[in-house]
Amino acid sequence: MRTLLLAPLLLAGCDPEGEAADNFEYVDLGTFTTDADGLVNIPWEAPEGVVSTEVFCGPYGYDTIATADDVTSPAGTMVYDDEAPYDGALRVGVLDDVLPVLIPVSPDLPAESGQWSMNLFVDASDLPASVSCGALSRVGDTASANLVDVHIVFVGVDGIAAGMTAQAAEGDETVQAIVSRLGDLWSDLGLGLGTVRYSDFSGDVAGSTTIEGYEEFGNLLRTTEDTAELTFFMVQDIDLGDGASILGLSGGPPGVAGHGGTSKSGVVINVANAVASPEQVSLIMAHEGGHFLGLFHPTENDLSGQDPLGDTPVCSDSDGDGGLTSAECAGSGSENVMWPTAQVGTATSFSGDQGWVVARNPITFPE
Ligand SMILES: [Zn+2]
Repeated sequence: MRTLLLAPLLLAGCDPEGEAADNFEYVDLGTFTTDADGLVNIPWEAPEGVVSTEVFCGPYGYDTIATADDVTSPAGTMVYDDEAPYDGALRVGVLDDVLPVLIPVSPDLPAESGQWSMNLFVDASDLPASVSCGALSRVGDTASANLVDVHIVFVGVDGIAAGMTAQAAEGDETVQAIVSRLGDLWSDLGLGLGTVRYSDFSGDVAGSTTIEGYEEFGNLLRTTEDTAELTFFMVQDIDLGDGASILGLSGGPPGVAGHGGTSKSGVVINVANAVASPEQVSLIMAHEGGHFLGLFHPTENDLSGQDPLGDTPVCSDSDGDGGLTSAECAGSGSENVMWPTAQVGTATSFSGDQGWVVARNPITFPE
């Protein structure tokens, strides 16, 4: 069966792309069905020499959310407990359709080989619910200087800049300014751009270039190819349902690394203002790409949570109004690219721990 499948793939030159693929393995864990309370235990194995490991389950639909009740390490330690989601060194989202959980997202909880397990909770109205799960792991070396291969997919944006097509992108001033500035921002993470390739979206361009709501967002990400790359979809607008345009959005965080076909497999970027402000597009790519690779906001604006890193800036609510602003956090947060309202020219840096996390993501690789 495997031989039959491999032969035509190799003939077509479709072996997994990117250097990261060499140290990357994906395992289909099969189908799991929750109990009547929406709970099911998902065990997965991290191989010897593991650098990072990620499990994901879904799809359970865009009107349903899921999270982990808890996550247990091979040593038998409960490393995540949703009763106290910000106490440990792991972060787990409460997400529609597909739930990814990535280890590590902090130097305080490195990946280790052996059997991990997650108690998944699916908050569906119709229970029991069935989900498919997969696990992916990276093995091999780590380094302080790393690369990530990037795939930029243009979704009906050739009217914004004439070079926003696969054929013209290499020679287009706006596109190259965006890519170059993205590399500058990520250099502070110790992350460089490996192979950058460009494609024109081959699906329903007219229906996908203006994203309205999480379902359209997820359906676009579902078209991501099965490659060890970070995929950015460039669109004309993103509106998640409240009528306000947003500049970009990542699957997750974290995204499902190096595995296409899920609603968390990439990042969507609004390039409406790309010609006037390529720096803005670069910053949003650096920030949303950071989310995809396992970085969270140092502190949420509404003080509802913080990242699991010890060296990211901490801003206190000095005016006591229950919220943080960029001005309030000047020099104590807003200079970080992962600041929730990152501003061009102000948000220019990353922390050492943020670099440590990204250096271990399944799709990055030593330079
Ligand atoms: Zn963000």
